[in-house]
Amino acid sequence: MHKEVTASRRAIPSVTKVLDSLGKIDLARPLIVDRVRRELSRIRASGKIPEFRSIVDLVRISLEELRASRLQPVINGTGIVIHTNVGRAPLASAAVHALSEVGSAYSNLEYDLMTGGRGHRGAYIETALALLCGAESATVVNNCAAALVLIVQHFTRTKPEVVISRGELVQIGGEFRIGEILEATGVKLREVGATNKTALADYSRAIGPQTGIILKVHRSNFFMSGFVESPSSTAIARLARKKRVPFAEDLGSGAIVATEQFGIPEHEPTPVEALEDGADLVCFSGDKLFGGPQAGIIAGKKRFIAALKREPLFRALRCDKLILTALQSTVDFHLTDSTSEIPAIAFLRISKDELRARAAAILARLRGLPLQIAIGRGTVKVGGGTLPRSVMSSITIDIFPESCSVQDFASTLRQSVPPVIGYVANERFKLDLRTIFPQQDDAVVDAIRTACAATH
Ligand SMILES: *Cc1c(COP(=O)(O)O)cnc(C)c1O
Repeated sequence: MHKEVTASRRAIPSVTKVLDSLGKIDLARPLIVDRVRRELSRIRASGKIPEFRSIVDLVRISLEELRASRLQPVINGTGIVIHTNVGRAPLASAAVHALSEVGSAYSNLEYDLMTGGRGHRGAYIETALALLCGAESATVVNNCAAALVLIVQHFTRTKPEVVISRGELVQIGGEFRIGEILEATGVKLREVGATNKTALADYSRAIGPQTGIILKVHRSNFFMSGFVESPSSTAIARLARKKRVPFAEDLGSGAIVATEQFGIPEHEPTPVEALEDGADLVCFSGDKLFGGPQAGIIAGKKRFIAALKREPLFRALRCDKLILTALQSTVDFHLTDSTSEIPAIAFLRISKDELRARAAAILARLRGLPLQIAIGRGTVKVGGGTLPRSVMSSITIDIFPESCSVQDFASTLRQSVPPVIGYVANERFKLDLRTIFPQQDDAVVDAIRTACAATH
Protein backbone atom coordinates (compact mmCIF):
# COMPACT_ATOMS: atom_id res chain seq x y z
CA MET A 1 0.00 0.00 0.00
CA HIS A 2 2.67 2.43 1.15
CA LYS A 3 4.80 1.49 -1.86
CA GLU A 4 2.05 2.29 -4.33
CA VAL A 5 1.61 5.76 -2.94
CA THR A 6 5.30 6.37 -3.46
CA ALA A 7 5.04 4.94 -6.96
CA SER A 8 2.19 7.21 -7.91
CA ARG A 9 4.12 10.26 -6.71
CA ARG A 10 7.15 9.49 -8.82
CA ALA A 11 7.46 11.54 -12.00
CA ILE A 12 7.62 10.05 -15.47
CA PRO A 13 11.17 10.51 -16.76
CA SER A 14 11.71 12.38 -20.00
CA VAL A 15 12.21 10.52 -23.28
CA THR A 16 15.69 12.01 -23.59
CA LYS A 17 16.70 10.85 -20.14
CA VAL A 18 15.66 7.28 -20.90
CA LEU A 19 17.37 7.38 -24.31
CA ASP A 20 20.59 8.56 -22.71
CA SER A 21 20.56 5.68 -20.24
CA LEU A 22 20.01 2.98 -22.84
CA GLY A 23 23.49 2.91 -24.31
CA LYS A 24 24.05 1.66 -27.82
CA ILE A 25 21.24 -0.37 -29.34
CA ASP A 26 21.46 -1.84 -32.80
CA LEU A 27 18.19 -0.44 -34.16
CA ALA A 28 17.22 2.56 -36.28
CA ARG A 29 16.99 5.62 -34.01
CA PRO A 30 13.33 6.50 -34.85
CA LEU A 31 12.28 2.99 -33.81
CA ILE A 32 14.09 3.37 -30.47
CA VAL A 33 12.52 6.76 -29.81
CA ASP A 34 9.09 5.43 -30.72
CA ARG A 35 9.47 2.45 -28.35
CA VAL A 36 10.59 4.70 -25.49
CA ARG A 37 7.56 6.99 -26.01
CA ARG A 38 5.17 4.04 -26.12
CA GLU A 39 6.66 2.44 -23.04
CA LEU A 40 6.46 5.73 -21.12
CA SER A 41 2.85 6.37 -22.08
CA ARG A 42 1.96 2.80 -21.14
CA ILE A 43 3.51 3.39 -17.72
CA ARG A 44 1.72 6.73 -17.41
CA ALA A 45 -1.62 5.07 -18.24
CA SER A 46 -1.04 2.32 -15.68
CA GLY A 47 -0.78 4.95 -12.94
CA LYS A 48 2.09 3.06 -11.29
CA ILE A 49 5.46 4.54 -11.95
CA PRO A 50 8.36 2.22 -11.21
CA GLU A 51 11.88 3.33 -10.34
CA PHE A 52 13.92 4.87 -13.12
CA ARG A 53 16.17 1.79 -13.38
CA SER A 54 13.17 -0.50 -13.84
CA ILE A 55 11.79 1.80 -16.51
CA VAL A 56 15.05 1.58 -18.44
CA ASP A 57 14.98 -2.21 -18.06
CA LEU A 58 11.41 -2.38 -19.37
CA VAL A 59 12.34 -0.27 -22.37
CA ARG A 60 15.39 -2.39 -23.01
CA ILE A 61 13.33 -5.61 -23.01
CA SER A 62 10.86 -4.05 -25.40
CA LEU A 63 13.71 -3.01 -27.72
CA GLU A 64 15.25 -6.49 -27.52
CA GLU A 65 11.90 -7.94 -28.60
CA LEU A 66 11.81 -5.58 -31.55
CA ARG A 67 15.38 -6.39 -32.53
CA ALA A 68 14.72 -10.13 -32.28
CA SER A 69 11.81 -9.73 -34.71
CA ARG A 70 14.08 -8.32 -37.42
CA LEU A 71 14.51 -10.86 -40.21
CA GLN A 72 17.91 -12.47 -39.76
CA PRO A 73 19.65 -15.79 -40.40
CA VAL A 74 19.27 -18.46 -37.73
CA ILE A 75 20.99 -21.80 -37.24
CA ASN A 76 18.32 -24.46 -37.58
CA GLY A 77 19.05 -27.30 -35.19
CA THR A 78 15.49 -28.65 -35.29
CA GLY A 79 16.35 -31.23 -37.95
CA ILE A 80 13.19 -30.22 -39.81
CA VAL A 81 14.42 -29.56 -43.34
CA ILE A 82 11.35 -27.71 -44.59
CA HIS A 83 10.22 -25.64 -41.63
CA THR A 84 7.89 -22.74 -42.43
CA ASN A 85 8.82 -20.96 -39.17
CA VAL A 86 12.47 -20.75 -40.19
CA GLY A 87 11.87 -19.87 -43.82
CA ARG A 88 11.40 -23.28 -45.50
CA ALA A 89 14.11 -24.10 -48.08
CA PRO A 90 17.46 -22.29 -47.80
CA LEU A 91 18.60 -21.14 -51.25
CA ALA A 92 21.50 -22.63 -53.18
CA SER A 93 24.55 -20.38 -53.05
CA ALA A 94 24.46 -20.02 -56.84
CA ALA A 95 20.88 -18.76 -56.51
CA VAL A 96 21.98 -16.19 -53.93
CA HIS A 97 24.86 -15.09 -56.17
CA ALA A 98 22.47 -14.67 -59.10
CA LEU A 99 20.11 -12.71 -56.84
CA SER A 100 22.82 -10.29 -55.94
CA GLU A 101 23.86 -9.82 -59.57
CA VAL A 102 20.36 -9.29 -60.93
CA GLY A 103 19.17 -7.37 -57.89
CA SER A 104 21.98 -4.86 -57.86
CA ALA A 105 21.76 -3.99 -61.55
CA TYR A 106 19.19 -3.55 -64.31
CA SER A 107 18.06 -6.75 -65.98
CA ASN A 108 16.21 -8.04 -69.03
CA LEU A 109 13.12 -8.73 -66.89
CA GLU A 110 10.72 -7.63 -69.63
CA TYR A 111 13.18 -6.64 -72.30
CA ASP A 112 13.89 -8.80 -75.34
CA LEU A 113 17.64 -8.77 -75.99
CA MET A 114 17.15 -10.31 -79.44
CA THR A 115 14.84 -7.63 -80.81
CA GLY A 116 15.56 -4.74 -78.49
CA GLY A 117 11.82 -4.48 -77.86
CA ARG A 118 9.51 -5.36 -75.04
CA GLY A 119 10.07 -8.86 -73.74
CA HIS A 120 8.03 -11.29 -71.74
CA ARG A 121 8.56 -11.66 -67.99
CA GLY A 122 9.40 -15.21 -67.03
CA ALA A 123 10.03 -16.39 -70.61
CA TYR A 124 13.03 -18.53 -69.67
CA ILE A 125 11.65 -19.88 -66.42
CA GLU A 126 8.39 -20.90 -68.08
CA THR A 127 10.24 -22.84 -70.80
CA ALA A 128 12.54 -24.53 -68.28
CA LEU A 129 9.73 -25.40 -65.86
CA ALA A 130 7.57 -26.88 -68.61
CA LEU A 131 10.43 -29.14 -69.64
CA LEU A 132 11.16 -30.13 -66.05
CA CYS A 133 7.50 -31.01 -65.39
CA GLY A 134 6.97 -32.78 -68.72
CA ALA A 135 4.26 -30.21 -69.45
CA GLU A 136 3.20 -28.31 -72.57
CA SER A 137 3.48 -25.08 -70.65
CA ALA A 138 4.16 -23.63 -67.21
CA THR A 139 4.09 -20.38 -65.27
CA VAL A 140 4.81 -19.00 -61.81
CA VAL A 141 2.92 -16.94 -59.22
CA ASN A 142 3.74 -15.88 -55.66
CA ASN A 143 3.01 -19.12 -53.86
CA CYS A 144 1.01 -22.29 -54.18
CA ALA A 145 -2.00 -20.79 -52.40
CA ALA A 146 -2.03 -18.02 -55.03
CA ALA A 147 -1.77 -20.67 -57.77
CA LEU A 148 -4.84 -22.42 -56.33
CA VAL A 149 -6.82 -19.19 -56.13
CA LEU A 150 -5.90 -18.25 -59.71
CA ILE A 151 -6.82 -21.67 -61.07
CA VAL A 152 -10.08 -21.95 -59.18
CA GLN A 153 -11.25 -18.45 -59.93
CA HIS A 154 -10.49 -18.84 -63.63
CA PHE A 155 -12.36 -22.10 -64.09
CA THR A 156 -15.39 -21.03 -62.06
CA ARG A 157 -16.13 -17.89 -64.10
CA THR A 158 -19.26 -19.31 -65.67
CA LYS A 159 -19.69 -22.57 -63.78
CA PRO A 160 -19.29 -21.79 -60.08
CA GLU A 161 -18.66 -25.20 -58.52
CA VAL A 162 -15.38 -26.82 -57.51
CA VAL A 163 -15.68 -30.55 -56.96
CA ILE A 164 -13.36 -31.69 -54.17
CA SER A 165 -13.17 -34.70 -51.86
CA ARG A 166 -14.05 -34.15 -48.18
CA GLY A 167 -10.86 -36.01 -47.35
CA GLU A 168 -8.82 -33.25 -48.99
CA LEU A 169 -10.24 -30.14 -47.35
CA VAL A 170 -7.13 -29.93 -45.27
CA GLN A 171 -5.54 -27.30 -43.10
CA ILE A 172 -1.98 -26.55 -44.13
CA GLY A 173 0.31 -24.93 -41.60
CA GLY A 174 -0.74 -22.03 -39.37
CA GLU A 175 -4.08 -20.68 -40.52
CA PHE A 176 -4.33 -21.89 -44.04
CA ARG A 177 -7.32 -24.07 -44.80
CA ILE A 178 -7.75 -25.13 -48.40
CA GLY A 179 -11.55 -24.92 -48.10
CA GLU A 180 -11.54 -21.40 -46.67
CA ILE A 181 -9.09 -20.02 -49.18
CA LEU A 182 -11.11 -21.45 -52.05
CA GLU A 183 -14.38 -20.09 -50.65
CA ALA A 184 -12.74 -16.68 -50.25
CA THR A 185 -12.61 -16.50 -54.05
CA GLY A 186 -16.40 -16.77 -54.11
CA VAL A 187 -16.61 -20.27 -55.53
CA LYS A 188 -18.95 -22.95 -54.32
CA LEU A 189 -17.30 -26.05 -52.97
CA ARG A 190 -19.08 -29.18 -54.00
CA GLU A 191 -17.70 -31.56 -51.40
CA VAL A 192 -17.87 -35.22 -52.27
CA GLY A 193 -17.46 -38.44 -50.31
CA ALA A 194 -16.67 -38.73 -46.62
CA THR A 195 -13.56 -37.71 -44.71
CA ASN A 196 -12.02 -41.15 -44.98
CA LYS A 197 -13.68 -42.51 -48.11
CA THR A 198 -14.40 -41.05 -51.49
CA ALA A 199 -15.31 -43.23 -54.46
CA LEU A 200 -15.18 -42.41 -58.15
CA ALA A 201 -18.98 -42.66 -58.18
CA ASP A 202 -19.12 -39.79 -55.66
CA TYR A 203 -17.24 -37.58 -58.10
CA SER A 204 -19.36 -38.80 -60.96
CA ARG A 205 -22.64 -37.94 -59.17
CA ALA A 206 -21.40 -34.49 -58.17
CA ILE A 207 -20.32 -33.40 -61.64
CA GLY A 208 -23.02 -31.44 -63.44
CA PRO A 209 -23.67 -28.36 -65.54
CA GLN A 210 -22.43 -26.14 -62.66
CA THR A 211 -19.05 -27.88 -62.33
CA GLY A 212 -16.17 -25.59 -63.24
CA ILE A 213 -13.29 -27.80 -62.17
CA ILE A 214 -12.35 -30.94 -60.27
CA LEU A 215 -9.62 -30.30 -57.74
CA LYS A 216 -7.46 -32.89 -56.06
CA VAL A 217 -5.37 -31.67 -53.14
CA HIS A 218 -2.43 -33.66 -51.95
CA ARG A 219 -2.81 -34.52 -48.28
CA SER A 220 -0.11 -32.53 -46.61
CA ASN A 221 0.75 -32.68 -42.92
CA PHE A 222 -1.17 -35.83 -42.15
CA PHE A 223 -2.08 -39.25 -43.37
CA MET A 224 -5.05 -41.47 -42.85
CA SER A 225 -4.91 -45.17 -42.26
CA GLY A 226 -7.49 -47.89 -41.75
CA PHE A 227 -10.81 -47.66 -43.55
CA VAL A 228 -9.62 -45.30 -46.23
CA GLU A 229 -10.29 -45.03 -49.93
CA SER A 230 -9.92 -42.53 -52.69
CA PRO A 231 -9.85 -43.01 -56.45
CA SER A 232 -6.52 -42.75 -58.27
CA SER A 233 -5.64 -39.59 -60.16
CA THR A 234 -5.78 -41.64 -63.35
CA ALA A 235 -9.39 -42.63 -62.64
CA ILE A 236 -10.42 -39.06 -61.78
CA ALA A 237 -8.66 -37.79 -64.92
CA ARG A 238 -10.51 -40.31 -67.08
CA LEU A 239 -13.83 -39.27 -65.57
CA ALA A 240 -12.98 -35.58 -65.98
CA ARG A 241 -12.21 -36.11 -69.64
CA LYS A 242 -15.44 -38.02 -70.20
CA LYS A 243 -17.47 -35.26 -68.53
CA ARG A 244 -15.42 -32.53 -70.23
CA VAL A 245 -14.44 -30.89 -66.97
CA PRO A 246 -10.88 -29.68 -66.29
CA PHE A 247 -8.95 -31.50 -63.57
CA ALA A 248 -6.24 -29.83 -61.49
CA GLU A 249 -4.04 -31.36 -58.86
CA ASP A 250 -2.42 -29.40 -56.01
CA LEU A 251 0.75 -31.35 -55.21
CA GLY A 252 1.89 -29.07 -52.41
CA SER A 253 5.50 -30.06 -51.83
CA GLY A 254 6.73 -30.22 -55.42
CA ALA A 255 9.16 -33.12 -55.16
CA ILE A 256 11.03 -33.49 -58.43
CA VAL A 257 13.45 -36.17 -57.30
CA ALA A 258 12.14 -39.53 -56.09
CA THR A 259 11.70 -39.20 -52.34
CA GLU A 260 12.70 -42.86 -51.79
CA GLN A 261 16.31 -41.78 -52.31
CA PHE A 262 16.14 -40.05 -48.92
CA GLY A 263 15.96 -43.49 -47.30
CA ILE A 264 12.25 -43.30 -46.53
CA PRO A 265 9.64 -45.61 -47.97
CA GLU A 266 7.13 -42.88 -48.80
CA HIS A 267 6.69 -41.55 -52.30
CA GLU A 268 5.73 -37.94 -52.88
CA PRO A 269 4.02 -37.61 -56.29
CA THR A 270 6.02 -35.55 -58.78
CA PRO A 271 4.56 -33.07 -61.32
CA VAL A 272 5.69 -35.36 -64.16
CA GLU A 273 3.76 -38.29 -62.68
CA ALA A 274 0.62 -36.25 -61.95
CA LEU A 275 0.54 -34.91 -65.50
CA GLU A 276 1.19 -38.37 -66.94
CA ASP A 277 -1.69 -39.64 -64.83
CA GLY A 278 -3.90 -37.19 -66.68
CA ALA A 279 -4.15 -33.98 -64.64
CA ASP A 280 -4.72 -30.97 -66.89
CA LEU A 281 -2.88 -28.72 -64.48
CA VAL A 282 -0.67 -29.23 -61.43
CA CYS A 283 0.53 -26.67 -58.93
CA PHE A 284 3.14 -26.84 -56.18
CA SER A 285 5.29 -24.67 -53.92
CA GLY A 286 8.73 -23.43 -54.94
CA ASP A 287 10.14 -23.47 -51.40
CA LYS A 288 9.32 -26.95 -50.13
CA LEU A 289 11.00 -30.04 -51.63
CA PHE A 290 11.68 -28.08 -54.81
CA GLY A 291 14.28 -26.22 -52.73
CA GLY A 292 13.87 -22.73 -54.18
CA PRO A 293 12.31 -19.41 -53.19
CA GLN A 294 8.66 -18.90 -52.24
CA ALA A 295 6.69 -19.40 -55.44
CA GLY A 296 3.68 -21.22 -56.81
CA ILE A 297 4.47 -23.19 -59.92
CA ILE A 298 1.69 -24.14 -62.32
CA ALA A 299 2.28 -26.60 -65.16
CA GLY A 300 0.06 -28.38 -67.65
CA LYS A 301 -2.03 -27.80 -70.79
CA LYS A 302 -0.86 -24.92 -72.91
CA ARG A 303 -4.27 -23.39 -73.51
CA PHE A 304 -5.10 -23.46 -69.80
CA ILE A 305 -1.81 -21.84 -68.79
CA ALA A 306 -2.30 -19.19 -71.48
CA ALA A 307 -5.80 -18.49 -70.17
CA LEU A 308 -4.57 -18.24 -66.57
CA LYS A 309 -2.00 -15.69 -67.65
CA ARG A 310 -4.70 -13.56 -69.26
CA GLU A 311 -6.59 -13.32 -65.96
CA PRO A 312 -6.40 -9.83 -64.42
CA LEU A 313 -5.65 -11.57 -61.11
CA PHE A 314 -2.47 -13.01 -62.62
CA ARG A 315 -1.04 -9.49 -62.67
CA ALA A 316 -1.64 -9.18 -58.94
CA LEU A 317 0.01 -12.52 -58.23
CA ARG A 318 3.03 -12.27 -60.49
CA CYS A 319 6.54 -12.81 -59.14
CA ASP A 320 9.20 -10.24 -58.60
CA LYS A 321 12.54 -10.37 -60.48
CA LEU A 322 14.42 -11.58 -57.39
CA ILE A 323 12.13 -14.57 -56.99
CA LEU A 324 12.35 -15.37 -60.71
CA THR A 325 16.14 -15.20 -60.54
CA ALA A 326 16.44 -17.52 -57.53
CA LEU A 327 13.89 -19.89 -59.05
CA GLN A 328 15.77 -19.90 -62.36
CA SER A 329 18.98 -21.09 -60.66
CA THR A 330 17.05 -23.76 -58.75
CA VAL A 331 15.31 -25.02 -61.89
CA ASP A 332 18.66 -25.20 -63.72
CA PHE A 333 20.03 -27.42 -60.93
CA HIS A 334 17.04 -29.75 -61.29
CA LEU A 335 17.45 -29.87 -65.08
CA THR A 336 21.16 -30.66 -64.90
CA ASP A 337 20.82 -33.28 -62.15
CA SER A 338 22.86 -31.07 -59.84
CA THR A 339 20.39 -31.26 -56.98
CA SER A 340 23.25 -31.73 -54.51
CA GLU A 341 23.66 -27.95 -54.90
CA ILE A 342 20.16 -27.43 -53.47
CA PRO A 343 20.55 -27.35 -49.67
CA ALA A 344 17.14 -28.80 -48.76
CA ILE A 345 17.74 -31.81 -51.01
CA ALA A 346 21.37 -32.20 -49.96
CA PHE A 347 20.30 -32.19 -46.27
CA LEU A 348 17.84 -34.99 -46.90
CA ARG A 349 20.58 -37.08 -48.48
CA ILE A 350 23.35 -36.66 -45.85
CA SER A 351 24.39 -39.96 -44.31
CA LYS A 352 24.28 -40.49 -40.58
CA ASP A 353 27.98 -41.43 -40.62
CA GLU A 354 28.82 -38.00 -41.93
CA LEU A 355 26.67 -36.38 -39.24
CA ARG A 356 28.19 -38.58 -36.54
CA ALA A 357 31.72 -37.52 -37.54
CA ARG A 358 30.73 -33.86 -37.28
CA ALA A 359 29.06 -34.47 -33.92
CA ALA A 360 32.23 -36.12 -32.59
CA ALA A 361 34.34 -33.18 -33.74
CA ILE A 362 31.97 -30.70 -32.07
CA LEU A 363 31.97 -32.69 -28.82
CA ALA A 364 35.77 -32.80 -28.78
CA ARG A 365 35.83 -29.02 -28.91
CA LEU A 366 33.39 -28.64 -26.03
CA ARG A 367 35.23 -30.70 -23.40
CA GLY A 368 35.54 -29.29 -19.92
CA LEU A 369 32.40 -27.15 -20.00
CA PRO A 370 29.88 -27.35 -17.12
CA LEU A 371 27.41 -29.48 -19.02
CA GLN A 372 26.76 -33.08 -19.92
CA ILE A 373 27.02 -33.51 -23.64
CA ALA A 374 26.62 -36.57 -25.83
CA ILE A 375 25.86 -37.70 -29.33
CA GLY A 376 22.19 -38.59 -29.60
CA ARG A 377 19.60 -39.69 -32.08
CA GLY A 378 16.98 -37.55 -33.71
CA THR A 379 13.83 -38.58 -35.47
CA VAL A 380 11.96 -35.74 -37.08
CA LYS A 381 9.57 -35.03 -39.91
CA VAL A 382 10.76 -33.66 -43.22
CA GLY A 383 8.34 -30.77 -42.64
CA GLY A 384 6.39 -28.37 -44.83
CA GLY A 385 3.57 -30.86 -44.95
CA THR A 386 5.66 -33.20 -47.06
CA LEU A 387 5.97 -36.92 -46.48
CA PRO A 388 3.65 -36.93 -43.45
CA ARG A 389 4.06 -40.66 -42.87
CA SER A 390 7.83 -40.59 -42.64
CA VAL A 391 10.45 -39.51 -40.17
CA MET A 392 14.10 -38.96 -40.95
CA SER A 393 16.47 -40.47 -38.46
CA SER A 394 19.37 -38.23 -37.67
CA ILE A 395 22.24 -37.40 -35.32
CA THR A 396 21.94 -34.82 -32.56
CA ILE A 397 24.13 -33.11 -30.01
CA ASP A 398 22.36 -33.70 -26.68
CA ILE A 399 23.05 -31.23 -23.91
CA PHE A 400 22.14 -31.34 -20.25
CA PRO A 401 23.31 -28.08 -18.69
CA GLU A 402 24.51 -28.30 -15.09
CA SER A 403 24.03 -24.69 -14.10
CA CYS A 404 20.61 -23.84 -15.49
CA SER A 405 17.41 -25.45 -16.73
CA VAL A 406 17.22 -26.96 -20.21
CA GLN A 407 14.65 -24.28 -21.13
CA ASP A 408 16.93 -21.46 -19.98
CA PHE A 409 19.78 -22.97 -21.94
CA ALA A 410 17.60 -23.11 -25.08
CA SER A 411 16.58 -19.51 -24.53
CA THR A 412 20.21 -18.37 -24.11
CA LEU A 413 21.16 -20.07 -27.38
CA ARG A 414 18.31 -18.28 -29.12
CA GLN A 415 19.91 -14.99 -28.05
CA SER A 416 23.22 -15.92 -29.72
CA VAL A 417 24.39 -14.14 -32.83
CA PRO A 418 23.37 -15.86 -35.05
CA PRO A 419 20.57 -17.40 -32.98
CA VAL A 420 20.80 -21.18 -32.55
CA ILE A 421 17.49 -23.02 -32.46
CA GLY A 422 17.12 -26.53 -31.12
CA TYR A 423 14.46 -28.51 -29.31
CA VAL A 424 13.94 -30.16 -25.95
CA ALA A 425 13.25 -33.88 -25.68
CA ASN A 426 13.83 -36.34 -22.81
CA GLU A 427 14.95 -33.42 -20.65
CA ARG A 428 17.85 -32.78 -23.00
CA PHE A 429 18.45 -29.83 -25.26
CA LYS A 430 19.00 -31.26 -28.73
CA LEU A 431 20.62 -29.86 -31.85
CA ASP A 432 20.05 -31.93 -34.97
CA LEU A 433 23.05 -31.68 -37.29
CA ARG A 434 21.12 -32.57 -40.46
CA THR A 435 19.80 -29.04 -40.87
CA ILE A 436 22.96 -27.27 -39.70
CA PHE A 437 25.33 -26.36 -42.52
CA PRO A 438 28.82 -27.82 -41.85
CA GLN A 439 30.24 -24.30 -42.10
CA GLN A 440 27.99 -23.35 -39.16
CA ASP A 441 29.57 -25.91 -36.80
CA ASP A 442 32.08 -23.29 -35.57
CA ALA A 443 29.26 -20.89 -34.74
CA VAL A 444 27.44 -23.68 -32.87
CA VAL A 445 30.54 -24.40 -30.78
CA ASP A 446 30.96 -20.68 -30.01
CA ALA A 447 27.30 -20.27 -29.11
CA ILE A 448 27.39 -23.23 -26.69
CA ARG A 449 30.58 -21.94 -25.05
CA THR A 450 29.10 -18.46 -24.67
CA ALA A 451 25.83 -19.87 -23.34
CA CYS A 452 27.76 -21.82 -20.71
CA ALA A 453 29.57 -18.70 -19.62
CA ALA A 454 26.30 -16.73 -19.51
CA THR A 455 24.41 -19.30 -17.46
CA HIS A 456 27.19 -20.14 -15.06
C1 LIG B 1 2.08 -26.12 -48.64
C2 LIG B 1 0.88 -26.40 -49.45
C3 LIG B 1 0.15 -25.35 -50.02
C4 LIG B 1 0.52 -23.91 -49.80
O1 LIG B 1 1.68 -23.60 -50.47
P1 LIG B 1 2.32 -22.13 -50.34
O2 LIG B 1 3.39 -22.13 -51.38
O3 LIG B 1 2.83 -22.02 -48.95
O4 LIG B 1 1.24 -21.16 -50.62
C5 LIG B 1 -0.95 -25.66 -50.78
N1 LIG B 1 -1.34 -26.95 -50.96
C6 LIG B 1 -0.67 -27.98 -50.43
C7 LIG B 1 -1.15 -29.36 -50.67
C8 LIG B 1 0.48 -27.74 -49.66
O5 LIG B 1 1.15 -28.76 -49.13
